[in-house]
Amino acid sequence: MAECPICGRAFEPRVGGARGGPRSAPLVDKGSAFPFCSARCKTIDLGKWLSADYRVTVAVEPDDVDRAEAEVQFHTEAGAKS
Ligand SMILES: [Zn+2]
Repeated sequence: MAECPICGRAFEPRVGGARGGPRSAPLVDKGSAFPFCSARCKTIDLGKWLSADYRVTVAVEPDDVDRAEAEVQFHTEAGAKS
């Protein structure tokens, strides 16, 4: 049982192409909207991305993480002094 991240409805995900065989099953079954309960919710999610509801569009580089960690340490040390 899975829960649709859009509408929150519990649903049974369709397991497509799980029968195995010489050809590997496609990662996403075209008939399935997983992890969404339906193609409608999948479209809603896509719309959210496109309408910038989710604003994380910049890929985080390892350098950025290092810099962020350094900044956190700097602020922590500065805060400890005062
Ligand atoms: Zn849904």
